[in-house]
Order: sequence, then structure tokens, then C-alpha cells
Amino acid sequence: MTSFRYEIDVPLVAECDVLVVGGGSAGSAAAIAAARKGADVVLVEKYGFLGGTGAMVLDTFYGFFTPGTTERKVVGGIPDLVIEGLDRHGMLMKRPNTYGAGAGYTYDPEVLKVVWDGLVADAGVRLFLHTHFIDLAMDGESVATVVVGSPKGPRAIRAKCVVDASGDAHVAFRAGAPFEDAGALGIAQSLTTTFKMINVDVGRATAFPKTEMWALMQRESGNYRLPRKEGSAHITPLPGVMVTNMTRVAGVDGTDVEALTAAEREGRSQALEYVRFLRDKIPGYEKADLGGLSIQIGVRETRRIKGQYWLTREDVLSARKFPDAIAQCGAPIEEHHASGDTRWEYLPDGETYEIPYRALVPVGVDNLLVAGRCLSASHDAHASVRSIGQCLAMGQAAGTAAALSVEHGVPPVAVPAEALRADLRKAGAIL
Ligand SMILES: Cc1cc2nc3c(=O)[nH]c(=O)nc-3n(C[C@H](O)[C@H](O)[C@H](O)COP(=O)(O)OP(=O)(O)OC[C@H]3O[C@@H](n4cnc5c(N)ncnc54)[C@H](O)[C@@H]3O)c2cc1C
Repeated sequence: MTSFRYEIDVPLVAECDVLVVGGGSAGSAAAIAAARKGADVVLVEKYGFLGGTGAMVLDTFYGFFTPGTTERKVVGGIPDLVIEGLDRHGMLMKRPNTYGAGAGYTYDPEVLKVVWDGLVADAGVRLFLHTHFIDLAMDGESVATVVVGSPKGPRAIRAKCVVDASGDAHVAFRAGAPFEDAGALGIAQSLTTTFKMINVDVGRATAFPKTEMWALMQRESGNYRLPRKEGSAHITPLPGVMVTNMTRVAGVDGTDVEALTAAEREGRSQALEYVRFLRDKIPGYEKADLGGLSIQIGVRETRRIKGQYWLTREDVLSARKFPDAIAQCGAPIEEHHASGDTRWEYLPDGETYEIPYRALVPVGVDNLLVAGRCLSASHDAHASVRSIGQCLAMGQAAGTAAALSVEHGVPPVAVPAEALRADLRKAGAIL
């Protein structure tokens, strides 16, 4: 690849204790946690709202409850504040997962954006929306200055500690932290454009068994282009509205813009084909319309950093516990691969594994933490731990650890796990 070199002066717009990059589930929770600990926090987000994939693509939080015979709630603290906020707006319902993976909280994503606005403002976070992480300058092994793109051009931010909650590990990548690149290796989970159907006769649509819908998807594959034959549609808090998870775009490197552009087009095209199928073939959808596509295609997996601990498939399936645990997870391995149906592998009934703090601490960069789906985990472990419940919990832990790191003047790797765990418990986390 040819390259060219340029140098410009970049105005410094903020100095802070903790900079959080990415205002999705993990990043918003991280910013709130750090600010509640007294840190001066800046949160930058490239879109005009918070919530990330949880607001752009989805409407259901999984990971709060264990699946199996006896349900147990395993996530608490800041995640509970989000749930309470949605409930106050009357836009929350609890419902079973289509595939038995434990109950989820379904909400209106538009209201979720407003709930995050309130929580972040109440915590005193300095929020910069429409602000895009571009690059950084290192001082030795530390991130010294972060360069963001803003409507006024590039701007610089200095922070004592940085939390990368960008989903794609953009900061860790530019800082030179090691990572596994699922997209480039061709092992990344497939992408999905979700869509919303309005004017649905919900009673008739939900009375039609999902197994019959899946059989019809198989039988009708000569008449409709339906790459995934076992997708789901679920009820929402809004009357006449069903939300789907049906399309499948496989083999995409989600950090390659040309591949991502092609995937966006393909996802939208598939969505219209599923709409046609639903209207033609599934009871209750005869008079339904497309109510909207996800704001962008949903990307499940890109870069996973190599941290002080690498969470594995064995850790997940054996319900492993860790002395530096910062959260629990009972969600199964849910792998949306290129060919055939989604693969589900469950933990022993009612059990959870723990997420160690070390999986949020990258190797080789002193003042950086990661949170959310770019944590340090193998492909299979990631397929379990990426639910929003766990991303929220990881965010709370990373933000708390970042504040402790600044308060005590030590790098994140030296933050004592017991102090972190005590703070998390005090703030409602379930450990
Ligand atoms: C199709 C699909 C269906 C799924 N279904 C479910 C489900 O039903 N329930 C569930 O619990 N989980 C589900 N998941 C998993 C879950 O949604 C994700 O793992 C989780 O939302 C990731 O949260 P995060 O905070 O790590 O990342 P995100 O929510 O993606 O947040 C990253 C944020 O960083 C911002 N950002 C990115 N780059 C930059 C930059 N350069 N500068 C500034 N900001 C930046 C983004 O705009 C975004 O707001 C699904 C995932 C997909 C893709």
C-alpha cells in the first residue's frame, strides 16, 4: 500500500482523568462508573446518541439471567439503572429467549437513547457526540494524546487513563496492543441487518409456531433469497410492532470499509426479501409494513485484544471462577457462522463462569483498558460473553478500575483486584 505523510497542529480541546472512547453499552457504563468514583471523565461517541449496538441494531438485553431450570439474575449495578430508566418510561418487558438462552429485557431503543442521556448527565460525564476517535500519540508505553475527528476538524484530548469501548478496539489497535483479528482471519461471526415490522397482527403472528416458520423458510428457499433459515421475530413493548433477527451476511471483515460497505448493501437487500417472505407466507404479517432497518448492520466480532488473561471456551463451558472476577456470565456459546444454523453450546444447568479483570487489561500499553466486545477472549468464549448484560458489567468494571488507577497513580495492571471488587459490590455489581 502506498502512503503519504502529513503533519498538522491539532488544538487541545480537553484534558481529563479518564477518556472513554465509544458510547455503547460498555462505554456508557464505564464513563458513568468512573465519574461516580469522582474522576473527571470525557466520553466520545461517533454517532449522535449513546447506546451503541443496543440502540442502533437491537432491542433486547441478554445476559442478565441464567438460562436453565432455575433463573438467576447475575448482572447488577449500573445495568439496573438502565433497566429502571426504561421501566419508568413504560418501555420495558421481560421475555424468554427464542432459543432458550435465558430471559431478556426488551425495550424501545429510542427511549434507551434518552435513558443513557440522563444517566451520563447525572454522573457529570463530559459527553462529546459526533466525535470520532482517529489516532493517538504514545509517550513510551502510554497513550499520551488522543486525536478525534469533530465537525470543526481534528481535535486532541489528553487523559491519564483511556478506556477503549469502541467495539472494534480502535484505540488498542493504534496503540500497538496485540489482538486477534477475527475478520482478517476469516473466523468472524456473520453480520445482521435487523428490521422492524409495523401493523402486525401480533396475536396471530405469535400463535404461528416458530418451527413452522423455519420449515417454511426451508421449503420456500427456491422462491425467496433467505440465507438464514432459523431467524427470529419477537414482540416489543409497542403494539403491532415485531422486531426480527433474520438476515445473515457472512465472511466479512468488519474493519474493512469496502467489505463493510458491501455488507450494508447486502443486509438491506436481504431484509427486503425477508419482509416479502413474512408478508406472503406468515399469518399476521399480511398487512404489515417495514417500519425501519437497523441504523447500521450489526457487527458481532472484529478485533479481540490479547490481554493479561485470554478467556477460553474451556473457561466458559466448565463455569470457571477467578480470584479477580469482575462479572458473571451464564449465556451459552452462540455462534452465528457462515454455513448452516447458529450453533448453541450451554454451560452446566444454572451455572455461570466469571470474567477476570485481567481480560480487560491489554498487554503492552500502560494506561489503557478495554471493555465490551473487544475484550481478551477466544472466538468461542467471545460468542458467549458478548451479551449486552456482560458488556454493561465489563464497562462498569473498566470505568471503576480506570478511576482507581488515576486515584492511586498506578497503571490499570496494578489496580488491586480486591479493591476493585469491593467497589463494584458496593455499587451493586453481582460478584
Ligand atoms: C446482529 C446482532 C444481534 C445481537 N443480538 C443480541 C441480543 O439480542 N442481546 C444481547 O444482549 N446481545 C446481542 N448481541 C451482542 C451485543 O449487541 C454486542 O456484543 C454488544 O452490544 C457490544 O457492546 P459494546 O459496548 O462492546 O459495543 P457497541 O455497543 O457496538 O458500542 C461501541 C460504540 O463505539 C462507537 N464507536 C466505534 N468506533 C468509534 C470511534 N472511532 N470513535 C468514537 N466512537 C466509536 C460506536 O458508535 C458505538 O456506540 C448482538 C449483536 C449483533 C451484532
